Amino acid sequence: MQVIIERFNPENDSQPYAQSYHIDDTEIADDTMLLELLQRLREQDPSLGFRSSCQEGVCGSDGMNVNGSNCLSCITLAKPLGEKIHIRALPGFPIIKDLIVDMSIFYQQYRDVKPFLQGDAALQTNLEQEFLQSPQERAKLDGSVECILCACCSSSCPSFWWNPDLFPGPAALLAANRFVVDSRDITTIDRLEQQDSAVKAFRCRNIQNCTSACPKGLNPSRAIQALKHAIVNKPT
Ligand code: SF4
Ligand code: SF4
Repeated sequence: MQVIIERFNPENDSQPYAQSYHIDDTEIADDTMLLELLQRLREQDPSLGFRSSCQEGVCGSDGMNVNGSNCLSCITLAKPLGEKIHIRALPGFPIIKDLIVDMSIFYQQYRDVKPFLQGDAALQTNLEQEFLQSPQERAKLDGSVECILCACCSSSCPSFWWNPDLFPGPAALLAANRFVVDSRDITTIDRLEQQDSAVKAFRCRNIQNCTSACPKGLNPSRAIQALKHAIVNKPT
């Protein structure tokens, strides 16, 4: 198997370049994940840069673009990728080194939607008081709370590529909608007004790259459409 990795070290390189590695097919089992291949390649070449942590598809640190699609290398089987694998860093982010990107703007957009519960202050001061939800109210959070902030979605979104400083991106908008639909949150109108802009929720063109890219099977595009609907129908 040939693995072609787009490499770039801003300290030494004027532009990215492709480096080809070879791995004997006999070393690749049916259940070998792409991350294991990268770890073997780094034993050959310790200068190769990539992130990984939990190796179970939970921490979201090893997002990368493989054969043109974003994925998490730790839960991507190597064999089905073919005899020649092309790997590059997540598109749309500045490269720190090789497959390691600077996700500062992604995290800033996430922080800006205030991704925490803003409940009734009177209840919050009473530590004995629980914030109860019915099973039906809790079910509305399914499909949002599973997000691991891997950025595979935002990195595949053209609207985010062009304006990462203005457009929140699908991951942040998924989080915004998660608190809009949370029955315990009392800042719904503020949250909707924050996204009521041509460069916020309405910059989404519903192309659904984000949904195709999500390794957790979430549907940020559908959440954004629900958010737009709530904005249009918010009380005036
Ligand atoms: S559906 Fe919206 S958020 Fe998702 S990729 Fe398309 S423009 Fe981006
Ligand atoms: S919505 Fe999916 S792709 Fe986007 S950050 Fe969350 S887990 Fe990753």
